[in-house]
Amino acid sequence: MVPFDLHTHCTLSFDGRSTASEMVQTAVSLGMGYHALTDHVDLGGHADPEFDLEATVNGARETIPALQREYAGRLCLLYGVELGQPCHEPEKAEFLLSENMYDFVVGSVHNIRGHDDFYFLDYREHDPVKLLDAYFEELLETAEWGKFDILAHITYPLRYIAGEYGIDVDMNRYSGILDETFRALIRNGCGIEINTSGLRQKLGRTMPELPAVKRYRELGGELLTIGSDAHCTSDLGKGIAQGIETAKKAGFTQIAVFRKRKPTFIKI
Ligand SMILES: [Zn+2]
Ligand SMILES: [Zn+2]
Repeated sequence: MVPFDLHTHCTLSFDGRSTASEMVQTAVSLGMGYHALTDHVDLGGHADPEFDLEATVNGARETIPALQREYAGRLCLLYGVELGQPCHEPEKAEFLLSENMYDFVVGSVHNIRGHDDFYFLDYREHDPVKLLDAYFEELLETAEWGKFDILAHITYPLRYIAGEYGIDVDMNRYSGILDETFRALIRNGCGIEINTSGLRQKLGRTMPELPAVKRYRELGGELLTIGSDAHCTSDLGKGIAQGIETAKKAGFTQIAVFRKRKPTFIKI
């Protein structure tokens, strides 16, 4: 049994492979109490040119509330969104959020200004340390903007730099800016997540890892979620148990669940 999964995608995302209905049915069969669908709304013009932002937003608007009603009493389905690079187009991001339709808003950084998603970059051509320097600057900027609920998959570029290319980077270089990022998040009432997708990928670890989650806690962070970042039913709930173990080791006794943008807590 998997108690929850708070970061997932369906075919409303350009890279989703299972429909919203298939994802929710699977969540029920896994025994979940809470399931968040957090489909991509990537800002800043570096998203797939095929990707139609309006279609995603409107598609979710038509699909998710109906599923919430259909599954009421069996599963708490959270109407979420993953807002990528909100600082690249803050007006657009703020307009979207002003409609108040979401339960849960995940903020994220998949690409830095002037570059494609870290997924597409060739790390033999680009200096990974320079890219990571820019990534952590933009992550801090995003935390300072702070109009989301949690900041997703901190250390995302490592999925490719360390995971796919096997390049080892000394992350101590970023401990200062990460502290600043955590302080900005806490100040803005935002939290972080343990993203377990790295566990089933070449990276082999969560994003972020235990020391960063622990540090966030030490600095006074209280809002923590855990999500698999599944894009299909077969990945749903994967790694949540390990994520819970990591959360406990970092000193957390509860996980935040956002409904209508307000956190409630479930014990772990
Ligand atoms: Zn993401
Ligand atoms: Zn995601």
